[in-house]
Amino acid sequence: HGLLLIAGLGCGIAHAQKTSEKDVDQKVEALLSKMSIEEKVGQMTQVTIDLILDDNSLDAIDEKKLKEAILNKKVGSILNVKGSAYTMDTWHKIQKRIQEVATKETPNKIPVLYGIDAIHGANYIEGSTLYPHNIGMAASRNPELVRQSAKLTATETRASGIRWNFDPVLGLGRQPLWSRFEETFGEDVHLVTAMGTAAIKGYEEDGLKSPTAVASCMKHYLGYSIPASGKDRTPAYIPEYTLREYLLPPFKSAVDAGTSTVMINSGEINGVPVHASKYLLTDLLRGELGFEGVAVSDWEDVIRLHTRHKVADTPKEAVRLAVEAGLDMSMVPYDYSFYDLLLELVKEGAISESRIDESVRRIIKLKYKLGLFDNPFPEKAALAKVDPKKSQEVALNAARETITLLKNEKSVLPLKKGAKVLVAGPAANNLTSLHSSWSYVWQGNDDRQYPKSTLTIKEGLEAKLGKGNVISAAQRDYNHAANFDAGQLKKDAASVDYIVLCLGEDAYAETPGNIDDLTLDSKQLALASAAMATGKPVILVLVEGRPRVISSIENDIPGILLAYRPSTMGAQAIAEVLTGEYNPNGILPYTYPKHTGDLIKYDHKYTEGIREDEPNTYTNGAYRPQWAFGHGLSYTTFEFSNLKADKATFSAGEKLNLTVTVKNTGKRAGKVTVELYSRDLFASITPNFKRLRKFEKIELAAGASKQVSFTVSPEELAFINAQGKKVTEPGTFEFIVKDQVVSVEYKTGQEN
Ligand code: BGC
Repeated sequence: HGLLLIAGLGCGIAHAQKTSEKDVDQKVEALLSKMSIEEKVGQMTQVTIDLILDDNSLDAIDEKKLKEAILNKKVGSILNVKGSAYTMDTWHKIQKRIQEVATKETPNKIPVLYGIDAIHGANYIEGSTLYPHNIGMAASRNPELVRQSAKLTATETRASGIRWNFDPVLGLGRQPLWSRFEETFGEDVHLVTAMGTAAIKGYEEDGLKSPTAVASCMKHYLGYSIPASGKDRTPAYIPEYTLREYLLPPFKSAVDAGTSTVMINSGEINGVPVHASKYLLTDLLRGELGFEGVAVSDWEDVIRLHTRHKVADTPKEAVRLAVEAGLDMSMVPYDYSFYDLLLELVKEGAISESRIDESVRRIIKLKYKLGLFDNPFPEKAALAKVDPKKSQEVALNAARETITLLKNEKSVLPLKKGAKVLVAGPAANNLTSLHSSWSYVWQGNDDRQYPKSTLTIKEGLEAKLGKGNVISAAQRDYNHAANFDAGQLKKDAASVDYIVLCLGEDAYAETPGNIDDLTLDSKQLALASAAMATGKPVILVLVEGRPRVISSIENDIPGILLAYRPSTMGAQAIAEVLTGEYNPNGILPYTYPKHTGDLIKYDHKYTEGIREDEPNTYTNGAYRPQWAFGHGLSYTTFEFSNLKADKATFSAGEKLNLTVTVKNTGKRAGKVTVELYSRDLFASITPNFKRLRKFEKIELAAGASKQVSFTVSPEELAFINAQGKKVTEPGTFEFIVKDQVVSVEYKTGQEN
């Protein structure tokens, strides 16, 4: 009876969902039938307008610009990219005024959909807590932290009156020269998928009407993260195999997880700008992945089909190409040429009104789902849910779990009790490098925007060790590596036990963050050499959004900690790890290269790997990373044993259960991520050396052990074959957890 009742209840919910979906569809159709073609084209237009002339007065709203956008050009969406963060109050003023004009002064009273890049916290709200960038989040191997921080971000964003967030980034971080590497969840397909879908869950899990939800936006579809040159927004050359084996799966899972919107890659693949690709925007995205949400362009990218990509000989042709390819909304952002030209195209019959209707339907539907037609104004219920304490707590937990201890020779860390340290290096007393992109300002490089309470690494260490025990190089010239004084360094070092050297990268976002060389800046390397020459143990803290090559100094540095971009609570977390108050557990989400010319990944093909049996032959590959994907140390030790599969053979339709025992063999409690890899020994397409299939993070007290189990289905071992089909071929699979390996025979060939 109980079961029946539950089943019945399930049907009831499904039924209610269907009815409300139908209900929304009816409303959308009714509205669509009343809209003029101008209004429809306006809905497909998104502009950025700085509406506040003076932060302190409502009269300062730029009414002229607002009315030009909403009344004259009938725009359906606005986005914000501006020079500083606003207070919650200012956001309310802006949103209120926009929605007043949209819902009171237009013929069909359609509310505006406002979008923003709240990509690691509500980073356009003054004083908001910022979470570590995705690259660090991926090191935590803790999707729950991603979900929690996304949900808190959604809550604050919604409370400000904004209901659309241009996040998560689902590109793979496999090209570390690329300036947006820090926005990715690293190099692995499974990891990016797990973290990306956790973010979508956090943004949308309670339904788009919930006061804690925003519409998420998977981006940048597709292939944005691997430009051949490494430079932002430059061409990628991607065979169908790579596209489907590596780049598409996170987007497919995001669609299945219900993401509401997608943003298109500004770049081009195989000579076709993605914004002009009907194959990618319609056939693959809609047809194959079944995506039904809104597709928005990236910044100015429609017109760039003409100005940059040169595939359209006029701006009008650019608009036609993008709309025919399948775009729903153009992030214009500064002028109204898209609106004007699209209107002309429809009036001339070059684009049908039914094509326009398809896009407008999706946009209006999203507005209904977000509850904008019920109440377009900032909601009290959302504001009531904002909880800065909780945000800080989650941000601290996240920062702690991201930090990755790369090296700890002779247990140089944690710092001994009562230690005196010299803190030096350009990242020592610098908030911008801790936060980087999208931090109150787009480039994250305006120091004045950071809340007064945010600590630098130097201040974090002072709080733990006592001010008297921290000598700060920051007070000297050599805080900035360019001008350091080796003599002064030596004098300062004489009175301390350790030098904590904070190197890495300052803040950057997008194209301005392009670099030509992965090697760490030469002046910083010189500073490291001078620090080592003092004879004091050097602890290197790397604050960087991508792996910078440090092989020339690594050998002589006993302790190395990677902090990524840990943001608001980062300094505290770093200080806790250095002092041993927190036991580090982050593990690398990418292969840390030793040489700028060796970017071979952990999941390389056999011929790229090193053959131990024939180390010097021409068949020998080049995979010699500084540190491998998944590497990360702890202050305790873990032992893995007894990896077992529940079957020696398995076939289609069956699941395999694998178990492994993990023991904390050290003296303190710690968290550890158990990663399960698989290896297809022989296959019709050269198999990967190994692939990550599952991971689980556990905590173990000193001396404690636990059995961890994973379930694997044949579909999860599939790959894209030469015919472009996803297949699991019969043969031997090895499963690997650390030093443990077990072989299982797969019997039935199967197409998924
Ligand atoms: C970025 C997007 C972002 C958009 C709006 C673009 O330059 O590529 O990721 O969402 O700006 O700010």
